[in-house]
Amino acid sequence: MAKSHQATVLSLLEFPHHNLLEIKVDDLEAINYAAGKYIIVNSGMNPGLDKLHKRAYTLMPIDADRFYLAAARVDNGFGSHYINSLKVSDRIEFSGCWGKFTLDESVDSISVVCSDTGITAGMGLLSSQNLKDATCQIYWLRERDRFLSDSFVLEHLQKWASHLEIIDIPAIDNETSRQDLFQSFDVKSLRGQHHFLAGDGLMVTSLREKLEQNTVDPANIKQEIFFRKPPKT
Ligand SMILES: Cc1cc2nc3c(=O)[nH]c(=O)nc-3n(C[C@H](O)[C@H](O)[C@H](O)COP(=O)(O)OP(=O)(O)OC[C@H]3O[C@@H](n4cnc5c(N)ncnc54)[C@H](O)[C@@H]3O)c2cc1C
Repeated sequence: MAKSHQATVLSLLEFPHHNLLEIKVDDLEAINYAAGKYIIVNSGMNPGLDKLHKRAYTLMPIDADRFYLAAARVDNGFGSHYINSLKVSDRIEFSGCWGKFTLDESVDSISVVCSDTGITAGMGLLSSQNLKDATCQIYWLRERDRFLSDSFVLEHLQKWASHLEIIDIPAIDNETSRQDLFQSFDVKSLRGQHHFLAGDGLMVTSLREKLEQNTVDPANIKQEIFFRKPPKT
């Protein structure tokens, strides 16, 4: 069983549809953090399922042991409801860190395309020490006013990103329009030694396919699907 760790909620920032938590991890060394990684939060007993509810949330670093954590509200979503019900000084139990959405070596250039809540992975990744002087292109494809805010994301990413673009996309349940938009995304504009894709499975799958068709080595593409994971074939 994965080892469990603890963090404390230090402050809350209210966005129109959800909160942004500032958390402090008890023992940073024990969690093996690297920029871009996520934790699995234990949201307590889900009475509907009669078992512990656990969901992944990405850490966005503030400094050595403080991180932002945010969950978009999902209708009837137990995990996202739990995160948004937390108050200052509440304790969070989690396992991790987990994930391979990290940069393990220094590079000159990367591209990052995130959709929806996937921007948390982009914000985590861009704090990597391995990106010190690198050129970082970042695209955030998002439904307006659903998660965080454009100004918050711009403020936090501007200092790292050499190109930062926010693109309007249709609502999550409008699959066809979303698919059309992802299909029309020009991957030739993505220049980088490594490419990072995070968020809606429709976007990740579609852009990965197009990058590979454009002869990008699959080993240089990293992905994290937050929702709409395609079934394993
Ligand atoms: C590696 C990883 C990192 C993640 N990091 C974050 C993060 O930083 N912030 C965050 O908000 N979420 C993040 N997620 C998604 C998160 O783990 C949960 O899936 C989400 O909060 C829904 O959980 P729930 O228990 O509320 O709803 P569930 O009952 O699990 O889901 C209900 C339905 O909502 C859909 N859904 C899940 N996520 C979303 C979404 N973002 N928008 C719309 N529909 C959705 C599910 O596909 C499902 O159909 C991450 C997921 C992964 C795999």
